[in-house]
Amino acid sequence: MTTDVTIIGAGLGGLTLARVLHLHGIPATVYEAEPSPTARSQGGLLDIHDYNGQLAIHAADLTDEFRAIVLDGRQAMRILDTDGTVLFDKSDDGTGGRPEVQRGELRQILLDSLPPGTVRWGRKVTRTRALGEGRHEVVFADGRSVVTGLLVGADGAWSRVRPLLTAAEPAYTGRSVVETYLYDAATRHPATAKAVGAGSTMVSARSREIFVHRERDDTLHAYAGLSVPQDWFAAVDLFDPAAAAARIAAEFAGWAPELTALITATDTAPALRPLYALPAGTRWDRVLGVTLLGDAAHLTAPNGEGANLAMLDGAELGRALAARPGDTEAALAAYEQAMFERALQSAGIPGIDPGESTVHDLVAAFTRHEQP
Ligand SMILES: Cc1cc2nc3c(=O)[nH]c(=O)nc-3n(C[C@H](O)[C@H](O)[C@H](O)COP(=O)(O)OP(=O)(O)OC[C@H]3O[C@@H](n4cnc5c(N)ncnc54)[C@H](O)[C@@H]3O)c2cc1C
Repeated sequence: MTTDVTIIGAGLGGLTLARVLHLHGIPATVYEAEPSPTARSQGGLLDIHDYNGQLAIHAADLTDEFRAIVLDGRQAMRILDTDGTVLFDKSDDGTGGRPEVQRGELRQILLDSLPPGTVRWGRKVTRTRALGEGRHEVVFADGRSVVTGLLVGADGAWSRVRPLLTAAEPAYTGRSVVETYLYDAATRHPATAKAVGAGSTMVSARSREIFVHRERDDTLHAYAGLSVPQDWFAAVDLFDPAAAAARIAAEFAGWAPELTALITATDTAPALRPLYALPAGTRWDRVLGVTLLGDAAHLTAPNGEGANLAMLDGAELGRALAARPGDTEAALAAYEQAMFERALQSAGIPGIDPGESTVHDLVAAFTRHEQP
């Protein structure tokens, strides 16, 4: 007999799991805190790697849909010095193995591939409780609850399912990023658009960095990274976007104006994202009837792998359950063993360390996923 699956979180990981289960005829319900699929801008370009994210797309039988949303030319990579000098420049020759897509479009493909009603929106989990013999109760903010024989926490960094398995908690990494967007860049900010080029661009010095993607519709999406204590931002008035942008740009004093414009000319209020991580190597002993995937299981500081890994976790868990009908525990044990190893390997992939990086390090970080 196959157990119905209860998935918490409709991010890329949870949805990939739901899709792969659906392909194998296993019913699943996804409970998502957000009120609707469009409640929050999904933001961001993701490069989907041929060694993890694309394997998940294949397992989800969505390769054609995926190809249709790939943005041409975005695998171009550039590294600039802080004065704007080009240190490294690689055009997109189509062989990079990491096509770029908009995260929201990728999520929509997954949503469209599920039977209607699979995702229950506006169902924020507040509490989970073990009932014994592998059964768990999930309590929602609206007071409703469900009891399930198989619970999967795909609910990201601050998972409400994780405490059933481990006491590990995310800790601040010492780095934060501030997100900005410049729309119609070629027309409105030609010098910045020219500096950034066709794809991704990185500038880094002394614990400061700017990472920029050229997204669909000529939008430049920048992450300004600062290695600062979390309370540093208490002095930045994020409710006054212009003042906040100016204060953050002051940290990049002396950088070329076409680069600091990525902060000062933002069309959106600067959005602060403190970066957290779980202890590397977080694992747990098998607990009947429950597991985790994606950031809920192995949150790391962004290193270009997190969304890819979440999708692969979802696909692998779905396949493990499909391969062992009637033996959920064996499926979870096999899935977790492989997932722990993948997560550990990935945690060993460094993010881009702004203070220490040489151009050589940055090129290696940019191109590592093109190597076998
Ligand atoms: C600044 C930044 C840049 C990044 N860049 C990249 C990149 O370029 N490439 C890459 O591969 N990765 C990147 N990542 C990492 C990537 O975003 C995550 O690893 C990935 O989103 C994890 O997917 P997930 O499905 O596990 O969790 P999430 O995407 O976090 O999804 C979790 C879902 O669960 C829902 N949820 C949360 N709590 C509850 C609750 N209590 N009840 C119900 N639902 C809940 C959330 O609303 C969400 O929809 C980046 C991360 C950051 C912070």
